[in-house]
Amino acid sequence: MIDKQTQLDQIATEIKNFKDLEIARKCTQSVPGEGNPDARIMFIGEAPGFNEDRQGRPFIGQAGKLLEKVIQENLGMQRQDVYITNIVKFRPPENRDPLPEEIEACKGWLDKQIQIIKPQIITTLGRYSMSKFIPNVTISRVHGQPRNVNFLDQKVIVFPMYHPAAALRAGDVMKEFINDFDKLKRLIQPVISSGESPLTQQSLF
Ligand code: URA
Repeated sequence: MIDKQTQLDQIATEIKNFKDLEIARKCTQSVPGEGNPDARIMFIGEAPGFNEDRQGRPFIGQAGKLLEKVIQENLGMQRQDVYITNIVKFRPPENRDPLPEEIEACKGWLDKQIQIIKPQIITTLGRYSMSKFIPNVTISRVHGQPRNVNFLDQKVIVFPMYHPAAALRAGDVMKEFINDFDKLKRLIQPVISSGESPLTQQSLF
């Protein structure tokens, strides 16, 4: 059995070698995702931006700094404890919204990442990743409300949140974003207060 990190590395290589989308040919480099292969919590954003495209790492610009801060301050975890990735693995030009065919082309890689990591909680950041798990809803109505989802025969709790870039743009969204992180903390609190690492505990709930 190949270990999880090796399997994730294989996916990253596939993504790197993929050239069937224009954004894959035009980007500086792909951004497959990064973090703990045994993470209990996975964060899924939309697509890489300028800084991510430069460095090949997800969420390292302004939105990423906010995400990292709330992971530390509100969840009491470190960035490297969780797994962070995106729906689309290549930067769309001028940060435009991802196209349906781009989401479709990247879908298999994200599905495999989820199947390998087997997180207990998937936190979706923004509407694109939310609609992968919870279709036909609006983010303003469902953000901060955890749902049990059966995803590819895996039971997972999906926790939809606003995208951190949206929080940076508007004060009222920022309030909701922070408030939702506090709710997320209450979801994972049993693990933290038991003194067990969320990374090793088998059952969160
Ligand atoms: N926004 C995203 O959705 N993902 C990133 O990696 C960076 C910004």
